[in-house]
This record gives sequence, C-alpha cells and structure tokens, in this order.
Amino acid sequence: MVLYDPTKIPGDVYDTHTHLNDDSMFHDVAAYIGRANEYRVMQMNVVGYDLQGNQRAIEIAEQNENVYAIVGWQPDSTNEFDDEKLDILKEQIKNPNVVGIGETGLDYHFEGFNKNKQIDSFEKHLQLAKDNNLPVTIHMRDAFEDVYSILKKFDIHEFIMHSFGGDQKQAQKLLELGGYISFSGMVTFKKANNIQEAAKIVPLNKMLVETDAPYLAPVPYRGKMNEPAYTRFVVDGLSEILNIKRDELAKITTKNAQTLWNTSK
Ligand SMILES: [Zn+2]
Repeated sequence: MVLYDPTKIPGDVYDTHTHLNDDSMFHDVAAYIGRANEYRVMQMNVVGYDLQGNQRAIEIAEQNENVYAIVGWQPDSTNEFDDEKLDILKEQIKNPNVVGIGETGLDYHFEGFNKNKQIDSFEKHLQLAKDNNLPVTIHMRDAFEDVYSILKKFDIHEFIMHSFGGDQKQAQKLLELGGYISFSGMVTFKKANNIQEAAKIVPLNKMLVETDAPYLAPVPYRGKMNEPAYTRFVVDGLSEILNIKRDELAKITTKNAQTLWNTSK
C-alpha cells in the first residue's frame, strides 16, 4: 500500500466511528492504528454493538492512546439486550476511556426484525445518555420517522447520525434537533446524490467524518475492506463536494469531534 502523500502534509483527521473490535480487524489492531497514523488519521472512536464488541472497544481504548470507546447495542443485536446487559452497560460507561453511548438506533431494513424490542432498547440507550450527559451515536436505516419522533420525545440534542444515508430533508430535521451528521465512504459513491446534496446543507460545525470500517470503504477503495486510514478519502471526497480545502475540512471535523467527545489532545 502506498503511503498518503507526506509531501502534502495533510491536516490531522479523526475517524469518529470504526470497528477495530470486529473479528476482521481485532487480531491486528496495532497495524490498523499504525497505518491510520501514517495517513494522519490520529484519533478514532471504536464503537461497540453487542457484549463482546463493547468489551473489546474498551480494551482497545485502554491500550491505545488517542483511541476512545463508545458502547451500546446496535439494533440488530437488541434481541440479546436485557436488564442484565443494561446493568453491564451502566458499569462500562464509568470507564474513563468511554466517551459516548452507541451505536444504538433503529434498523428496519431486513425482514424479521423485532420493532418493539429495537424501540425499547433505543429508548433505554437515550435515557442512559441523558442521565450521564454523554453524546449518543445513532444507527438509522429505513426508520427515519420513528428515530426522529423518539429523539424529539426524549428531548435529545447531543447526538450523531452516523454514516448518514438520508437526504436533505432528513438532514435538515436532524440539524434542527441539534444533531451532528457524520459522513462515511458512502458520500463518495458515484450514485449517492442524495447524500451529497444533504452534505451541502450541513453547517461545518455540525459535520463529522468516519469510516464505519470494516464496511463501506470510500472511493477509490469501494468494495474492498475498509480501515480507519481511509477516513482520509472520506475527507477528500467530501471536500470536493463542498468545494472547500481538504485540510480545512480535516481541521474543522477533527475539532468538532474533539469538542463533542471531549477528546482534545
Ligand atoms: Zn458501525
């Protein structure tokens, strides 16, 4: 792999959502972090999604500087989320390496999901975020109306819509609630017009970038396995769409993340 062109001295980038805790990456965490750093991706949030994912996220954050953990139960895993797991989550957020709650949310994409269970889990996560004053990372797929009304009901303002895949209208409504919009490699996809148009109305101080690795590798690595280093290419793609200098975008999105998760270096 070619290093990111060091002669251009790119500004530091923050991958706000990655899964080094996933089986495909967990065996080689140091290498992925090392390569990310070569690309000047200098900070990252490892995001949990189930019992093991959360434990691993914390472990990785404890062992690596400038890596932080976010813990929660993704919608797909909520069938296993019960009171006992909620108690574990409550203990985990006391760990100083944990900076946020997530990923939680609603995903109505695949048939056979348990809607009530997802909503119940989502609401418990929001309550936890509220009680502990932590930002909450939200996964939303084919479920905008429910996500929006629940956020409103719980009066949640400090949230991140991760790997945003919606349109301008949705972005606008989420921004009105006070949320941040995080863009992944999807924004670089050729046919992602909706997402690209949405990006244009997001104020720079509400914008974040992420990989969601190992999924959703950005152009020019679309279809390959993703990794935190590629946050670089999300910034490149997004800066073209927004017609601003990539270093400026890197700087702004990094600052946003540091402020939101209280992770200034
Ligand atoms: Zn994720």
